[in-house]
Amino acid sequence: MKKELQYIFGPINSSRIGRSLGIDVIPKKICSLDCIYCEVGITKSISTEIKPYFKPENILEEFMSIYPEVKDSIDAITITGSGEPTLNSYLNDILIGIREIVKDEKEIAILTNTTTIDNKDVYNTLLDFDIVVPSLDAVTKTAFEKINKPAKEININDIINHLITFSNEYTGKLYLEVLLAKNVNDQKEDIDTLISVIKKINYTRLDIGTITRPPSYSFATPLTDIELDDIKAYIASNGVSFLKDSTVDDNSNNKTISYHNHSSVNNDKDVIIGKLIPILKMRPTTIEDMIKTLKIDNNTAQEILAPFIQSGEIITNDFNGVLYYQHKVIKQV
Ligand code: SF4
Repeated sequence: MKKELQYIFGPINSSRIGRSLGIDVIPKKICSLDCIYCEVGITKSISTEIKPYFKPENILEEFMSIYPEVKDSIDAITITGSGEPTLNSYLNDILIGIREIVKDEKEIAILTNTTTIDNKDVYNTLLDFDIVVPSLDAVTKTAFEKINKPAKEININDIINHLITFSNEYTGKLYLEVLLAKNVNDQKEDIDTLISVIKKINYTRLDIGTITRPPSYSFATPLTDIELDDIKAYIASNGVSFLKDSTVDDNSNNKTISYHNHSSVNNDKDVIIGKLIPILKMRPTTIEDMIKTLKIDNNTAQEILAPFIQSGEIITNDFNGVLYYQHKVIKQV
């Protein structure tokens, strides 16, 4: 049986970045926040401490074992984590190592909650990414604490000030991400204060979304499509643009690289399992997502899942009428 991947997952499809190979650089749920909507489960170890976690040499060795076979089918490499990736003090070494391998053939992106952006080393490392996707769900202390449940030493105003400064120095693509949860950070005063801060950030693209997968806290509920559209329209009516750079693609379907244009259906079950388990440890996933990501058909997906469901290693989760599959390591309350 093929060894389960520890650090590399995907390729996965993203509306912002396209098809990308993911790299998990932090152990599961070591994070500075405990967001109520987190897909990875509740935060086991809330911490702002930046220290050595996964070592670059191990990550790069696994990356090299996967990258050659997928490089023609991906747009980018995405550094993320089952927690906050900037808490790994090796982040800069990992970025340098990946850059040496992919040269300038692929963009390298990072998803971050920005809580460490006041750290000089993190700030400078973020400057070297091609794409930075910072999340900023709330800008008042009250709303920030409700939606993101931060470590006690985090000051939202410090984060905002550093993010504004960073955005004006950064020359890559900055995709600002805001997630709204119903009756948590979606009230008029929340949106008005958010608008005032967004206007100061020099972003490339702004994404306002809501909860789409099973959240770590069951009380976290999504906005309806109409509610989300109303808020987006209100934000736009206040002079906020969602796309500032016309070269940025607003639709993943228009990406030049698509799974459907590439190799045929994948039939090696051991290889599929080796890729599927890390994805299901990372986030709840639908059958449709698995089919698209792993290049398998519905029967193969069901056959592969069946023994894992029977043993309890993979569990199902109905969220908003959609059936998700997730690994048992994802803990929700
Ligand atoms: S969503 Fe991201 S920042 Fe929030 S708790 Fe989960 S891993 Fe941490």
